[in-house]
Amino acid sequence: MIDIHAHMCWKSYERDLDQIIEKCKQELSGVIASSARYDEGLKVLSLAEKYPGFIFPSIGFHPVEGGKDPERIMDLIRKNREKIVSVGEAGLDYHWEKDPAKHEKQREIFSKFIDLAEKLSKPLVIHSWDAESECYEMVKDSNAKCVFHCFSGKRDLAKEIISREFHISISTQVLFSKNIRKIAKDVPLDKILLETDSPFLSPYKDKDPRNYPWNIKLAAEKISEIRRISKEEVLEAAKRNAIGVFDLKIR
Ligand SMILES: [Zn+2]
Repeated sequence: MIDIHAHMCWKSYERDLDQIIEKCKQELSGVIASSARYDEGLKVLSLAEKYPGFIFPSIGFHPVEGGKDPERIMDLIRKNREKIVSVGEAGLDYHWEKDPAKHEKQREIFSKFIDLAEKLSKPLVIHSWDAESECYEMVKDSNAKCVFHCFSGKRDLAKEIISREFHISISTQVLFSKNIRKIAKDVPLDKILLETDSPFLSPYKDKDPRNYPWNIKLAAEKISEIRRISKEEVLEAAKRNAIGVFDLKIR
């Protein structure tokens, strides 16, 4: 199994990261280490060097957490184009940001990341919280290979996204959200990807505030119940799609 979106270099993983990765290695074939800002981008690059063929780096700019200098991150992406498997996460976030003037700024920056992903022929991992249709409108006519990460938009929009040959990534949120369960039922098996967005979205709530990449099996289990197929079938399809979309060279 492959987790296509985990923040392996987030602060709350720092103290025991190597143990976590060892445990990941027992259960997973690979993890895409996502990044949201410059310092995290540097860290995922060096983590991928330490675990070649297992940790795959993605460099992006989070619409709210990304910091003040998206250009610097774009330079980092260009310089490391051979090393990264995707551009992202990047996108729009109208959940944490309510100010329309700032939405405009977010769109301006996101369009640069769309162009960059297109130019480098890299998949674009999209953050679209409460701005799913706005993100879709911006990418729908681009040539970027789009992956909607942690998608929690409307069911009809999910269908639109799929019709454009884009991918939808289902997170461990499927355990708690009725809406995501509906989407997980609709997405064709050849378009489904799985992620945890670790260490966020912990399924354990207070017991352990951190989520872990191996929890994609919980998401797969839930999806298999909804679709009445085996968990293995879900995991296999998601793995095959991940390798295809991100061109992963698994060891
Ligand atoms: Zn993320």
